[in-house]
Amino acid sequence: MADIALRGIRKTYGKTEVVHGVDLDIPHGELVVILGPSGCGKSTLLRMVAGLEGITAGDISIGGQVVNRLEPRERGCAMVFQNYALYPHMTVAQNIGYSLKITGVPKTQRNEKVAKVAASLGLSEFLDRKPGQLSGGQRQRVAMGRAMIREPKVFLYDEPLSNLDARLRVAMRVEIRKLHQRLGTTTLFVTHDQVEAMTLADRIVVMNKGVVEQVGTPADVYQRPETTYVASFIGTPGLNLLPGIVDIDTGVITLRDGQRLAYDRHRWPDVGHGPAIAGFRAEAVSLAPNGLSGRFDFAEELGSAQLIHGTFAGETVIAHLADAGHLSPGDPLSFHVDPGNIQLFDADSGWRLAGEARVKGEARKIAPRLVTA
Ligand code: ADP
Repeated sequence: MADIALRGIRKTYGKTEVVHGVDLDIPHGELVVILGPSGCGKSTLLRMVAGLEGITAGDISIGGQVVNRLEPRERGCAMVFQNYALYPHMTVAQNIGYSLKITGVPKTQRNEKVAKVAASLGLSEFLDRKPGQLSGGQRQRVAMGRAMIREPKVFLYDEPLSNLDARLRVAMRVEIRKLHQRLGTTTLFVTHDQVEAMTLADRIVVMNKGVVEQVGTPADVYQRPETTYVASFIGTPGLNLLPGIVDIDTGVITLRDGQRLAYDRHRWPDVGHGPAIAGFRAEAVSLAPNGLSGRFDFAEELGSAQLIHGTFAGETVIAHLADAGHLSPGDPLSFHVDPGNIQLFDADSGWRLAGEARVKGEARKIAPRLVTA
């Protein structure tokens, strides 16, 4: 049981820096998901916490102790990988109890602990089976049992569900969440799958190219993305983004093709005249005559609704609609976007504009804003 603190963590391979100074505080008992596309540095960060990779600069503390120089086994972390590599010739019980065996824990005590861990993972009836006689999900649970039995201070998961089929992934996600609720062990979980992150995390750390773009609850990163990158990465689909010119007097954004989109200017009092990017969720779009006019491209059927893809002002816009009727590619579309749901981002940096944060009294450290004319 421990909190984790990262201070100015950097990692360089040869001359290339791949993690550019990460600061992060994870209170004891929290489940934090590090989310980002392949190659953004999330596994490297996790492996530095585990002690499997050296740190180029910065400090990592676990439970208040700087662990930079500690060996992996001295850090109290248990790691679960994507390739969980169980010992094929050992039974489930032997696999789970292996770390206790090699540290000399007596057999009776070992068996008791194995039975307890196996029961908590629903593996009691499989204790005598070999990994080859288990399903993928059961094998993954054995791998988790192997980590749990060491009663670690911290659980580290590195894309543990990536090899499982879609259904099993959903089931294991629930298992991991339940396990965390039961044990309350501080957990860091790495994934590139935003749905996995949204459903599992207490807080999500969104990474991009070796930097942290945002840290927040799933609701935070979904509702108030700090950057256009986070906005487009989170959500299915991501936020629609349309560049334009803001007129604060009329509360209108003029898009590249001259069409006008109204936003709620009272929610963005600090925003000035000038270029910006307007963002809105697919759910904020409805079909309405005399709205934004564009062309229909294609529809994704969700069963309960459709995702309608169209081209507006030269950009793709996706609308989540209950029933769009029959449409053929190229058909004209007219979308209304609720002004209250429009968010504004800096046209150059992609940072969320300061207006809304100020209204809520949450002044940000970096608050890029347009120059008021
Ligand atoms: P992610 O987990 O987000 O997919 P990684 O942390 O594995 O990303 O990798 C981050 C970057 O570091 C990538 O560009 C990768 O190619 C590079 N990298 C990772 N490990 C090494 C290594 N041992 N030597 C050189 N470059 C590496």
